[in-house]
Amino acid sequence: MLYLRLALGVLLLTLLACNGDDPFPFPDADAGADSDVDVDADVDSRIEADASVTKGDKETLLLRGTVVTPDKIIDPGEVLTHQDTILCVASSCASDPKAAKATIINTGGIIFPGLVDAHNHTDYNYLPLWKHTKMYTNHGQWQADPDYKASVSKPHGAMKSSSGLNLLCEMIKYSEIRSLVAGTTTIQGTSLRKCADTLIRNADLPYHGFAEGDTMRTNVLGVGQIDAATATKLQTDFLSGKTRSYVIHLSEGIDETARKEFDQLEALGLLKPQVVVIHGTALGQPELTKMKQANMPMIWSPSSNLDLYGSTNDIVTVKKLGLLLAISPDWTPSGDPNLLDEFKTVDTLSKTKLSNLFSAKEIVVMGTSNAAAAIKFDKEIGKLEKGMRADVMVLSGGDPKNPYESLITSRLSQIRLVVASGVPLYGDPGLMTALTPNSYCESVQICSTAKMICVKESTDSTNKLDQSLGDIETALGKGYAPGILPLSTNCK
Ligand SMILES: [Zn+2]
Repeated sequence: MLYLRLALGVLLLTLLACNGDDPFPFPDADAGADSDVDVDADVDSRIEADASVTKGDKETLLLRGTVVTPDKIIDPGEVLTHQDTILCVASSCASDPKAAKATIINTGGIIFPGLVDAHNHTDYNYLPLWKHTKMYTNHGQWQADPDYKASVSKPHGAMKSSSGLNLLCEMIKYSEIRSLVAGTTTIQGTSLRKCADTLIRNADLPYHGFAEGDTMRTNVLGVGQIDAATATKLQTDFLSGKTRSYVIHLSEGIDETARKEFDQLEALGLLKPQVVVIHGTALGQPELTKMKQANMPMIWSPSSNLDLYGSTNDIVTVKKLGLLLAISPDWTPSGDPNLLDEFKTVDTLSKTKLSNLFSAKEIVVMGTSNAAAAIKFDKEIGKLEKGMRADVMVLSGGDPKNPYESLITSRLSQIRLVVASGVPLYGDPGLMTALTPNSYCESVQICSTAKMICVKESTDSTNKLDQSLGDIETALGKGYAPGILPLSTNCK
């Protein structure tokens, strides 16, 4: 079904026609909903039969399996973590003094760094795909479309508003959970910290021992919001290091209106390495060359571009010029439900329309180490390497000889374990029970497969930290009558 969606997208790329009634349905959304309890016990036991845990110090984890750093493959390999830091990545970490007392996890799988979603809008990701009836040539058009306002922005505003349904905490947590079950451990684009500091890392918020988070700035409103004084202040903050990255929506669309935003950015003196371009769909060789000369990264969201504009970036030129390129799903109203699905979108585009422009390894890199580098956190996240944060995901059922391909073609049921800042947050129930990260962890069905997830932090209702996943789903379901997008998507 993903291929169907892409095929339609590529068709639209040619025709630029209206998208009809339902051009990009999320396949199997209902079949994979959490209420689906048709669990195959044999499948569950097979998934975990090749994994085991030997209990030791809870704060020290020694993971064994095929290790993908992602630059190189170590098979068999080990990853040793203590608290929130990676101590060792090697074929054997036995020489590290901490290894002797570690909790040993024989993963039976492939160990990757936690995926890095360099651009998203976390509070929107309870929303299903917006079924728009026409296509657009720049972002201002769909934002002004009365149907967008009625279907997305108005109900979303009521959900979010503290004077309305006041569900912002639930919206953000649900989005983080959606990313977590797909192996993502860092996400960008979260506006609120207070009720969501137990889940995955937010690149633009300072927690999880990640004080550097407040050196990132995000601009979702575009270059039109930047006046000369703001631009001057930004340049000063770039020089001092106060702001390491400035993520801005730019030139989203396929017409001259969208392209001209680049000229505005240039006129403001902001062609700088710290300025990270989200989308850049309208940019051609002249602008991309200037980006390369200024060492500016690009974040590419083809699923969202194809859905709204029927076209995406001149990615052949982007690659030829050697821009630092990351991929992200953007948000669920027009993009893929998670970064793992965006991998599949890029892979299918590459194979069907781009003459195999990207290898499987390059795609994984664009969602891990490149993504971290784009937002200037490559010293902390995006790689399995000594000194980096202990953000790890494990894939079961893959082929150790082809680990990158295995990740790209994987399904949510294969995400065996996700550890953020050294804390196991999600995974197969046997492993999670053995690791017992906290007493509030709960069972969940993802794509008809039993998993365990840790959402609730305490019994303290302040800032809704006592909510379970079930509480969050119930609250969002009551608030959004059309029905929230299930966590289980693209299960087959
Ligand atoms: Zn965006």
